[in-house]
This record gives sequence, C-alpha cells and structure tokens, in this order.
Amino acid sequence: MSANIVFIGLGNMGLPMAQNLVRAGFSVSGHDLVKASVDKLVASGGKTEADSMAAVAKADVVITMLPASRHVESLYLGEAGVLASAKPGALLIDCSTIAPEAARKVAAAAGARGFEMLDAPVSGGTNGATAGTLTFMVGGSRQAFEAAQPYLQKMGKAIYHAGDSGSGQTVKVCNNMLLGILMIGTSEAIRLGMANGMDPKVLSEIMSKSSGRNWALEVYNPCPGVMETAPASKDYAGGFGVDLMLKDLGLAVENALATNCAIPLGSTARNLYDIHSMNGAGKLDFSSIFNMLGKAK
Ligand code: NAD
Repeated sequence: MSANIVFIGLGNMGLPMAQNLVRAGFSVSGHDLVKASVDKLVASGGKTEADSMAAVAKADVVITMLPASRHVESLYLGEAGVLASAKPGALLIDCSTIAPEAARKVAAAAGARGFEMLDAPVSGGTNGATAGTLTFMVGGSRQAFEAAQPYLQKMGKAIYHAGDSGSGQTVKVCNNMLLGILMIGTSEAIRLGMANGMDPKVLSEIMSKSSGRNWALEVYNPCPGVMETAPASKDYAGGFGVDLMLKDLGLAVENALATNCAIPLGSTARNLYDIHSMNGAGKLDFSSIFNMLGKAK
C-alpha cells in the first residue's frame, strides 16, 4: 500500500491505532508531544520527522487522536497548522472526541481550503484500539467516508457513516452520556443487592439475563471480583478514565444547553463524576463510581 499517513496524537488510543496501520503495511509518520510515545511507534516500524508539519506536507492522509476540542482546533487552524501545511487532495480524519460544533468549525475551515475532512470518533477503548476492533462513528461527505475505508478498516471493525460533519461527534456524545448513566445505575443496583446480602456475582448473572441487562453489567462490571477482565478487578486501573468520561458528559451538557434539550440524568451523571474526580479518582477507570455509592469491600 502506498499511502503516506501522518498520525498525530500517540496516547493511550492513538499509539495502538497507528501501530495497526503500520502492521497493515502503510508508511506511518507518528507525532506526539511526548517523545517516548513516538519512540514506541518507531520501534514498531513507524517513522517520524523532527518537524511534524513537514511530514504533514507530504502526507496523503492525516489522522489525529487528541484529547479535546481546543487541541484539535489549534492543531488544524493554527498559523502553521495542518490546514496551512497539508498538500492539496490530502484526506483529513480527526478521531478525537470533541464538541460537534468544534468538529463542524474545523471541517468548514478545511472545506474552504479544498480539503475533505471527517470527524471519526471511536468506541471500544484501549483494548479495541489494540485489537483493531474499534467502532467508528463518522461525520462528513459520503465520498470522504468511502475514501477513508482502507485506513479505518485497519483500526476498527464497525464503521458507520452517521451523516454530515459533526454527526460522528453527536453520536459519540449521545453514546457516552448513556454509558455514563448506565454505569451509575448498574453500580446502584449492585450496591442495593449487596446491602441485602446478595452475592454480586449471582446478582449480576441473573440481571444479565433479565430486563436490566446492559453493557456495564455484562462486559464491564463495576464490582471488584465479578469479572476478572474488567478494570474493577484490577483496582480500576487502565480502561476509560473518570476525567475523560467527565469531559464527554460536559460535552453532552453543553450540547443540551445549546439545543434546548432536557438531559436530567446526563446532568446528574456529570455532577457525580465531577465529585468523584474531585475526590481524587480522576485517573481511575470510570466504573470506580461504584466506590462512591458504598464502602469498598
Ligand atoms: P491521551 O491523553 O492518552 O492521548 C492524547 C495524546 O495527544 C497525548 O499523548 C498528547 O501528548 C498528545 N497531544 C496533545 N496535543 C498534541 C499536539 N499538539 N501535537 C501532538 N500531540 C499532541 O488520550 P487518549 O486516551 O488516547 O484519548 C484520545 C481521544 O480519544 C480523546 O478525545 C478521548 O476522549 C478519546 N477516546 C478515548 C478512549 C479511551 O478509552 N481512552 C476511548 C474512546 C475515545
């Protein structure tokens, strides 16, 4: 495969995603503010350049995986940023989770300079990024969506065209708001059962076959010891951090205010994760909200 890819943002998600592109045979130039992350990509067959925008100038595809809206806006829209540096015809794909309005703003600026740009946030966590099984929710033109397939298919297995620019981010915000609420509800139910003397494993198994079943209960159980592979059984290490969930619920609240939409449970969930983070749990997996609802066992 001949496409030159530049991948910017080699964090928990970006590094394994870029490594999957290297494994698929693409030439991938990786960039991050953290040198150790770049070294890891180079050690696995990628390359890098001292000047990331010099690499962007040669790229057929630019993929970014950054923390939040402000990072994406400054990287793309800055004076010597991606839009000022990319070569004509380059395809731009932002996989970060950011505000839908920010995604639309950057895509409009890209369009004004003649670039196709997609917002392509992901679901599936670090395990999905490593296994190449992410779900992509993509906003942008159908043509750009088709052009991105060879790259997205190497990083994910479910790839959806959600609609115009910003739609991928809208789906992501809705999904993560629901996930945040479900994790709290699941934790409450297990805590209530345990307070009544139930074994959380038995309780979870029965609820998993009943109408309360959901992903947090079945795949990512928040109670330590119920599921060996879940972060709850690893002291809530790794996984999806409380602070990232807090960011996503903040996006949901901002969006609900802007669209005059009532999200009473989403707002409450944001407040609970905020308190949990202020209590020092920001870096723990978000399922640690279970600890806020009762004494640790
Ligand atoms: P992370 O903080 O581990 O990685 C972000 C990386 O971007 C960091 O390595 C940082 O140094 C780099 N960076 C920031 N600004 C930069 C710049 N100007 N140039 C180069 N590099 C820059 O975060 P992550 O967990 O990889 O998440 C990335 C995005 O994916 C976030 O928007 C997050 O919400 C989303 N996401 C995360 C998960 C997850 O499970 N961690 C799951 C789905 C979506």
